[in-house]
Amino acid sequence: MKAVVYKEPFNVAVEEVDDPRVQDPTDVVIEVTTSAICGSDLHMYEGRTGAEPGIVFGHENMGTVREVGPGVASVREGDRVVLPFNVACGFCKNCLAGKTGFCLTVNEGFAGGAYGYVSMGPYTGGQAQYLRVPFADFNCLQLPKGDEHEDDFALLADIFPTGYHATELAQVSPGETVCVFGAGPVGLMAAYSSVLRGASRVFVVDRQPDRLRLAGRIGATPIDYTEGDAAEQIKEHTAGEGTDKGIDAVGYQATVREGEEQPAMVLNTLVEAVRPTGMLGVVGLYVPSDPGGPSESARKGELLFKIGRFFEKGLRMGTGQANVKAYNRHLRDLIIAGRATPSFVVSHRLPLDDAPDAYRRFDRREEGWTKVLLKPGM
Ligand code: NAD
Ligand code: ZN
Repeated sequence: MKAVVYKEPFNVAVEEVDDPRVQDPTDVVIEVTTSAICGSDLHMYEGRTGAEPGIVFGHENMGTVREVGPGVASVREGDRVVLPFNVACGFCKNCLAGKTGFCLTVNEGFAGGAYGYVSMGPYTGGQAQYLRVPFADFNCLQLPKGDEHEDDFALLADIFPTGYHATELAQVSPGETVCVFGAGPVGLMAAYSSVLRGASRVFVVDRQPDRLRLAGRIGATPIDYTEGDAAEQIKEHTAGEGTDKGIDAVGYQATVREGEEQPAMVLNTLVEAVRPTGMLGVVGLYVPSDPGGPSESARKGELLFKIGRFFEKGLRMGTGQANVKAYNRHLRDLIIAGRATPSFVVSHRLPLDDAPDAYRRFDRREEGWTKVLLKPGM
């Protein structure tokens, strides 16, 4: 089959690889209809993670079930399903508690598995024609047959639940004010989820005019951080107090853009932008310390976190991979009911062969390249 294969930093290719097969009785194999490119893929693409050449990317997957293992009880051939980016077992301590992003079974030595992602277990990615899905009864979310809402449903694999997770970590409640740093797909979904949860006012911080325009379209107030300190701008809008809640949807890459002066770590600006005793939800990715590795800048970023200000303000913070399964069923039903349309972030729908060009453009944050959906059937 054809698949998007990582070659070296800033280079992916579409190549022939082995078809996936049912390996364990609890597996299914799906024919992929949509697989999205994610900001998380860019950490590997830009060579910051030590990903091995040859890995097939793609953790935001949906499609049609084609092969069913003998131990699968509820999933049938022909079912239309979307898969959480987390590969999870469903029976470990963390899965039983709903923390499927930290499954203790699927990725020996680490907590949490994912498709097509370095250090997240041996699971091949779905930017390909077919994908093997382990523990299929647990991981497949059933969708209505047909092709309605395809692009909305595709976003249930990661960014919609991840944006929602950020609002859950920050415990966004009706009437509250929220600031979201990053107007990438994840930040936009966090802002959208804040609106869904009844926030009275949402601020979205970025520098990209096209992405800030999208934030404006969902009723958020765009803040351009190149026009002055973002925390100060937010305080001006909130009687000097700052917002009740804050979300980091940028992560450490803000500190490592090539050729740019290193900006302040987003997390420290967030600490300033939120009122004392407020709460932070951090879904932007911070890679673990890796002395001597490509994440040197990230290591600096970790060391630069101003814990003193955080303490002084009595803030609280939640972090980590989204537990997609905790939210995807409810978010699916909002889409079906016509009460959520997350696909407003989708800018491109492209065949698999266009992936190398799409990666280049999305990585450069080219104007209008907000979210790319790859369609292997196109
Ligand atoms: P993205 O790179 O497209 O978006 C990041 C945005 O942040 C860009 O628009 C960029 O212009 C903006 N930005 C950069 N520096 C900034 C600063 N100083 N202040 C404000 N904005 C700034 O990526 P994305 O797909 O939206 O993902 C965002 C982050 O979320 C990534 O780190 C990704 O790895 C992470 N992520 C986490 C999870 C999870 O489960 N926790 C899931 C998916 C993605
Ligand atoms: Zn993703």
